[in-house]
Amino acid sequence: MSRVLIIGAGGVGGVVAHKCAMNSDVFSDILLASRTVAKCEAIARDIAELHGRRIATAALDADRPENTIRLIESFRPDIVINVALPYQDLAIMEACLATRVHYLDTANYEPPDVAKFEYKWQWAYRERFAAAGITAILGCGFDPGQTNIYCAWAQKHRFDEIHTIDIMDCNAGSHGQPFATNFNPEINIREITQRGRYWERGEWRETEPLSVHAPFDFPECGVREMYLMYHEELESLVQHIRGLRRIRFWMTFSQEYLTHLRVLQNVGMTSITPIEFEGKQIVPLQFLKAVLPKPESLAAHYTGKTNIGCWLEGVKDGRPRRLYIYNVCDHAACYREVRAQAISYTTGVPAVLGAKLVLTGAWRRPGVWNVEQLDPDPFMAEIGRQGLPWVETEPAQPLPL
Ligand code: NDP
Repeated sequence: MSRVLIIGAGGVGGVVAHKCAMNSDVFSDILLASRTVAKCEAIARDIAELHGRRIATAALDADRPENTIRLIESFRPDIVINVALPYQDLAIMEACLATRVHYLDTANYEPPDVAKFEYKWQWAYRERFAAAGITAILGCGFDPGQTNIYCAWAQKHRFDEIHTIDIMDCNAGSHGQPFATNFNPEINIREITQRGRYWERGEWRETEPLSVHAPFDFPECGVREMYLMYHEELESLVQHIRGLRRIRFWMTFSQEYLTHLRVLQNVGMTSITPIEFEGKQIVPLQFLKAVLPKPESLAAHYTGKTNIGCWLEGVKDGRPRRLYIYNVCDHAACYREVRAQAISYTTGVPAVLGAKLVLTGAWRRPGVWNVEQLDPDPFMAEIGRQGLPWVETEPAQPLPL
């Protein structure tokens, strides 16, 4: 029986809290803490109503390690699940080090003033976590997260060498709003508006933002246009997959979404450079976030499905092999289960299973790890039961790209 501190009460934090409550054999005591305590209390009420469990709540500004240290010292968790924003990662890792508590997150640290999507700041903590005898798991959402684990599992069981990986993330759902982002708008828009980048034969290659795209027929979602983007898991997977020659990341967007984004960009609303407005410094993208629909507010009316997976090509026993592993998730079903849409659900469920594997020992390993460095088997054996079953196919044709 273990105690868990969840930091962040947005769309993903809500799913993590619900799913911890549903895994009462592992998570006996749950504290949900976030900057706005009212959001934690609303989630706690839903959990009491849906799953009949009480969870504790607290206000926390996790930008300052001393605040998190104080909360950890009073609640004494065995693990911290960080699903606040990427800006808090290092401050929360510091607090975990000071109190010797395991750590898990779903997104790489981001400095507030530059969009980087790099792991270097968190990888710099490897020796300190190892010396403290505690485990830090990085990027245990869906992508990064479950997709990295698909690659590790395929490497372990299906391939001698994986030569190419294409991670494909499709949201074929509809939330009924003209423009909204499915997770934190600031992080989402930063990610999409940066230059595209993929890795081929030892080199990073750049493309103009969203300039490379192609249609793909996603199982249960249909034909969608997907766009090549940079995504943080490429950085860790190139280091951990044997024989890799190319890795790319693709995400689907509708024309409607891209038109809104282009207009917002053209008028300067997606900039992260502060401007002065009526005597105050404001960051346009943060202001935009304040006027856009809250991602968690989209959940109640979301319909349709997501399909996220990995298309892998390589060799096994001297013969070419091709594998497509994916999960399909239904927005409305997620809402019925945990009051969330599928983007938050597909992020939160792997985080909870990852935390469970640390607490029960399978993933307990002092140091700082990306998920593909850990044994994929216990994760793959249980993730279906936790709500994200996977499908494995051997396509006859190569990826049409
Ligand atoms: P939201 O913006 O919905 O929620 C973030 C939460 O963190 C809010 O409750 C916010 O509080 C809280 N928060 C922000 N700053 C602080 C702080 N200083 N101290 C304490 N709490 C704080 O984001 P999501 O739930 O959509 O996303 C959560 C994380 O999951 C993000 O890091 C995102 O990048 C990651 N993610 C990962 C994915 C993956 O597959 N790996 C996919 C999707 C998301 P307040 O309400 O007061 O603003």
